[in-house]
Amino acid sequence: MKPVQSSLKKWMRENENFQENYTKIREEVLKDPEIKEFLSYHPQLTQREIEKNLIKLYEYKTQSKQCSACSSFENCQNMLQGYSPILQVDNGEIRLSYEKCHSRLLQEKEQQQQKLIQSLYMPREILQARIEDIDHSDSQRNQAVLELLNFLDQADDTLPRKGLYFHGPFGVGKTYFLGAVANKLREYNYSTMMIYMPEFVREIKSSFKDDSTNEKIDFFKKADVLMLDDIGAEMQSAWFRDEILGSILQYRMMERLPVFFTSNYSLEQLEGQLAATRSGVETVKAGRIIERIKQVSVPVKIEGDNRRDD
Ligand code: ADP
Ligand code: MG
Repeated sequence: MKPVQSSLKKWMRENENFQENYTKIREEVLKDPEIKEFLSYHPQLTQREIEKNLIKLYEYKTQSKQCSACSSFENCQNMLQGYSPILQVDNGEIRLSYEKCHSRLLQEKEQQQQKLIQSLYMPREILQARIEDIDHSDSQRNQAVLELLNFLDQADDTLPRKGLYFHGPFGVGKTYFLGAVANKLREYNYSTMMIYMPEFVREIKSSFKDDSTNEKIDFFKKADVLMLDDIGAEMQSAWFRDEILGSILQYRMMERLPVFFTSNYSLEQLEGQLAATRSGVETVKAGRIIERIKQVSVPVKIEGDNRRDD
């Protein structure tokens, strides 16, 4: 008999604890200001329904509502990270559901926007450039800043068909401007593709033109805004100039999609660069590329001090 008796005692003891706990939780729940408010809005709820859903009400009580108790999305305290509980009454029954909280929605939007800038071989500091950080003390760059703000101003409404061709000496901040523009465009939900040209040319020339190359080129054609950094500094190749660059620019020209460039060369100088290939001087073909560049961008000269410390 002994074991039975002791387990009976154990059960009674635990049951007592359970009863105690239950009463405590019940009191806590019914005293909670938010639960009280909820119940006051729904006087039709029967005592039986309330008792039956005590656990749901308890769950609601313990969760953070609309991030009130969470410092950030990462520190969300709720059972379902990024979801806020909602109590409703449906056909005389209490329902507990969850909806995405505003921190989660914000985080999802940021993640989405993160994807809007794609880049190939661009330094990290450029991808972090911000319009707000451009210093206005350097009057030699004022024209460029003005043009760039003008572009963004229009883009807020509709994307202009021409981007900008920044040309000037090494280190004046041409590439930095690209990064700053791309980050602003992201806020307006435009996609930007930035490419450091010398590396890109090297990559294309060293690989066979396979599906992945075609995919990339397709992406360069179709991104809302394309940015070609340091054009003219690459190894010259007639094939790249005509088949790759030519076809990308042709497409964007037809579709009226803007392109940004940076270059150490003015357009006249670039024409000379593009003409000089191993097969001789090809002025007509180089001229054709320059014509397309003019269709998709407006040249802006930048002068100023070299900002590089190395
Ligand atoms: P470029 O492309 O004309 O050769 P960069 O854009 O690479 O020049 O700029 C040279 C250096 O100066 C980089 O380290 C860049 O981050 C920095 N820089 C350029 N413009 C700014 C700016 N407005 N504010 C802060 N740093 C800048
Ligand atoms: Mg540069």
